[in-house]
Amino acid sequence: MNSKTSFSIGAVNIGGTNPVVVQSMTNTDTNDVAASVAQAMRMVAAGAQMVRLTVPSLQEVPAMQAIRDRLREDGIMAPLVADVHFNPKVAEAMASIVEKVRINPGNYVDKRSFRQLDLSDAEYNAAVERMGQRAEPLFGICKEHGTALRLGINHGSLCDRIVSRYGNTPLAMVQSALEWVDICEHYDFHKVVISMKSSNVHTMMESTLLLHQKMEERGCTYPLHLGVTEAGNGIEGRVKSAAGIGALLLMGVGDTIRVSLTEAPENETPFAHKLVRAVQQLSPEDCIIHDHVLECTSEEEDYETWMAQCAALTGYACYNHAIKDVRLANPHFGTACCAELEATILQACRIKMSKTEFIACPSCGRTQYDIQSVLAKVKERFSDYPGLKIGVMGCIVNGPGEMADADFGIVGASHGSVCVYEGKKRITEAVSVEEAMRLLENLLKTK
Ligand code: SF4
Repeated sequence: MNSKTSFSIGAVNIGGTNPVVVQSMTNTDTNDVAASVAQAMRMVAAGAQMVRLTVPSLQEVPAMQAIRDRLREDGIMAPLVADVHFNPKVAEAMASIVEKVRINPGNYVDKRSFRQLDLSDAEYNAAVERMGQRAEPLFGICKEHGTALRLGINHGSLCDRIVSRYGNTPLAMVQSALEWVDICEHYDFHKVVISMKSSNVHTMMESTLLLHQKMEERGCTYPLHLGVTEAGNGIEGRVKSAAGIGALLLMGVGDTIRVSLTEAPENETPFAHKLVRAVQQLSPEDCIIHDHVLECTSEEEDYETWMAQCAALTGYACYNHAIKDVRLANPHFGTACCAELEATILQACRIKMSKTEFIACPSCGRTQYDIQSVLAKVKERFSDYPGLKIGVMGCIVNGPGEMADADFGIVGASHGSVCVYEGKKRITEAVSVEEAMRLLENLLKTK
């Protein structure tokens, strides 16, 4: 089971039998060219083979050109990826500047406002056709410049049309991807990478595997980019990513990966490379299951490699065998360490929830507050609510949709302020972080 389509994105080959490519994304303001160049250089030095930057509007396009030129002048040849939401004109402008453009099919033309749409088949098909017509100029520019396109499907930002018909489900994510595959193929455009991201490990795996199966049935296996989105930080973020990405790599699925962490972007790639190497040492036969309990016995001395392997095996076992528990044993790490990792892995795979689940985005150039320190504070104060999900998101544009299954959320507004959400409902205007923490505390007292 492997992607068959392969092509180059700048100097990097992906898909087919090429090695898995590790990428990451900046979180600087893209208009701050010096800061973005410096961060991209640190990321490449840390192992990023592709660098993504957010391009929220046409305003950032000249900055992207300057960033690209500065990096190339300094000999940094890593392909750049423009992350585009909501505005086809931005995607069209970027397609002649960078090596890859990521669009979100959920908001390229369609929109998400959590409304149920009751469309007839004719209305539904007309909407898909309109989307294709709007995308036509982008394909022309991509073809002219050899630019690749990533169809970045996010569970949290599917459009109303898709959700109304298929629910907010892995199948809906696959339908969204396949609509765009059809559109790309209609315009004879094949330099396509697809990602199916979710903060839920199981959803991310199910949608990716279903898409992979559908592509194989159609005889068109485009490269897949893997990631668990809003995974958070620290051990929890790494374990969640390893459970989803690692399990899929173990099944032979995946061509590029990103470990998204709410940390400095240059922290993502060392662990991502370690994860790829860790999974290469495994096989599905390493899943030893007795009475619905996965038993992982290892003599691996490197903690992160061991952690990645245990998480990948659990993600795999959880998806394929409905396990209820995990037992870890390793002579290099004590019983308490094993027990702690067991609990973190079980939580990441939502097998046993022993503490609050935090859904936190890695942040990007849209973020206007110190999300890393706020996440640390939120984790310190609100960790003891097993089963509860709290979102900490960088921006109000994409944050509320992306953390849609969180019970509560703190979402960045402007200039250091945030809004508090209860479910999908915003319950404050922009307030200070301290005020938001107080509000969240009061809300939790009443639960
Ligand atoms: S939710 Fe986070 S990562 Fe996504 S666009 Fe907003 S700030 Fe960027």
